[in-house]
Amino acid sequence: MKLETHQGRKLMRRLTLMAAALATTAFTAPAFADGHLQIVDEPLELTVHLHWPRKQSYDETWPVELAAREMTGIHLKDATAGSNVKDSLEAFNLLLAGGDLPDIVGGHLLKNNVNKYGPEGAFVPLNDLIDEHAPNMKAFFDARPELRQAISAADGNMYYIPYLPDGKYGRAYFIRQDWLDALGLPQPQNVDEVYETLKAFRDGDPNGNGEKDEVPFFARNWEEFPRLVTLWDARTSGSDTYHDFLVQDGKIQHGYAQENYKIGIKNLAKWYAEGLIDPEVFTRGSSSRDYLLGENLGGMTHDWFASTAGYNTKLADTVEGFEFAAMIPPESVSGVRMEEHRRIPIKPDGWAISYQNEHPVETIKYFDFFFTPEGRNLSNFGVEGVHWDMVDGEPIYKPEIVSGERAVNSQMYDIGAQIQRGYWQDYRYEIQWTNEIALAGIALYDEGDYLVDQFLGVAFNEEEQSVFDKYWSSIRTYMLERQQAWLLGTGDVEAEWDDYLADLDRQGFNDVVAVMQSAYDRQYGQ
Ligand code: CA
Repeated sequence: MKLETHQGRKLMRRLTLMAAALATTAFTAPAFADGHLQIVDEPLELTVHLHWPRKQSYDETWPVELAAREMTGIHLKDATAGSNVKDSLEAFNLLLAGGDLPDIVGGHLLKNNVNKYGPEGAFVPLNDLIDEHAPNMKAFFDARPELRQAISAADGNMYYIPYLPDGKYGRAYFIRQDWLDALGLPQPQNVDEVYETLKAFRDGDPNGNGEKDEVPFFARNWEEFPRLVTLWDARTSGSDTYHDFLVQDGKIQHGYAQENYKIGIKNLAKWYAEGLIDPEVFTRGSSSRDYLLGENLGGMTHDWFASTAGYNTKLADTVEGFEFAAMIPPESVSGVRMEEHRRIPIKPDGWAISYQNEHPVETIKYFDFFFTPEGRNLSNFGVEGVHWDMVDGEPIYKPEIVSGERAVNSQMYDIGAQIQRGYWQDYRYEIQWTNEIALAGIALYDEGDYLVDQFLGVAFNEEEQSVFDKYWSSIRTYMLERQQAWLLGTGDVEAEWDDYLADLDRQGFNDVVAVMQSAYDRQYGQ
C-alpha cells in the first residue's frame, strides 16, 4: 500500500521507526521523526563503492547508515570492488576493470581518478546539480570558493564531494618538560638552543638511571626527521602529504631542490652522526612513540597534538614525573617560527556520481543531507541518543564513548561515522577527547602565526598528466633515496649537490614543475 499524503508518510515512517526501535532499541524518539529530511517518497536503493584503508567496503549495518536510511529514505547497497585489497587505488582500478560502475563511487584517494575520468564521461559533473538541488553544499562552497577551485577538474567542473577536515592544527613540537627541569634548562627557543638541549638530553642522564640511554629526538613517522630542515628555512612539503610540492609567490616549487634544503640536511646529518636523533628513526616505525616514551627514553618529537599529549595521562602512573609538553616552533636560523604541518581543508577522499546512476538528483540530495545540521552530526558523532546527546545545543558524546578503552575515532569508524565519504568534519568531535595539555598547546600555537600557506593541489589536463606520470614517481624515489643517504652519512650533500640538481633536471624535474605550474595557473587564475 502506498501512502500518498504527508500525514500518511509520517505515519509510515513512525511505524518503521517503531519497528527499528523494537528490534534494536537503538532509535528512541529521534529528532528527525518529522521527516523533513526525506528525499524520496518510496525507499530508493543506490549502489556504492567505498574503499578506504581501514575498512575496504561499505557496511549496510553501520548504525550511521541505518539512521541515514531512516532520515532520507535512501539505502546504500555495498558494491565495493577490491574488498580483498588494502590499496584504494588498486581497488579503483579493479572497479574500472569490472566494467560496470555503481551509482556512487567513493573512498580514499578519489580526486585524481575522478578528475581524470570525469571529463571523459565516467562521472557526472556536479556544479549544476549542486546549484539546483543541494542548498547546504552550495552555501558551503559559496563561502569557501577556494575549495571549489581546488577540487575542480581541468575542464572546470567538480566531479566529487570531498571529505572536508575541520580544525587547524595537526602536529606540534613536544618536549620532555620533566627532563628539562631535571637538567635546569628552559624550553629551547631557537635552532641553536634545540641543538644544545638535545646534547644535554644525550649527555646529562635526564631519566636518571645512570645510563647514557636517552634518545634525544625521535619520530613515529621518519619523515618528521627531515622535516627539521624547517629550522634552516627549508621546506619538505606544501601540504599535509609528505614530500609534496609547494607554492611560493605564485610559483610551484619543490623543497628538495632548494638551496636551504642542502644546508638543513647537512646540519641534520651532523645531528644524526652525533647521536641526537634516534639511530633507528628510519626503521622503528609507528610503535616508536609508545616504546620510547613508555621506557622513559625519548626526549623530543614532532607529532599530533591530541594523541601525543595523551601520553601524559597514559604514563602518569608508570613513568615518575612524566611531563610531555607542547612547545612553540623554535626560531629558524633567520628567526622564523614555522609549523609546516597543518590540517588540510580538503582531502582527495570523498564520493562521486557515476554516469550509470539513474538518480543523480536524489543522489546529490543525499550528498547534501550530510551537510545539513542533522546529517553533519550523524556523520561526525554517530546516532543521537545512542552515541551522543544534544546538551545546550552541543552534540556531546555519551560518557561510555569518551571513557572507552578504544580511541574515539576508532569507535566512530566502527559505526560508520568519520569515514571517507564526502562530509564536513566537525572539530567538536575531536575536542571532546583532546586532553587539557593538548588544548593548552593548541592555545599556545594559536597565539602565534606559525602555520604556512597550503598547496591544495592541481588537476591536470591529459597532456600535463602524461608528463607528470612519466617522470614524477622515479624523481621522487631518487630524491628520497639521496635524502636518506645524506642523513645517514653514506652520502655527502655538500659534495653531491650540484650533481643531484643536474640529475633531477635529466630525469625531467623541470618538466614536471612546468606542468604543475600550468595546471596551477589555470586552476587558481594566476
Ligand atoms: Ca639515562
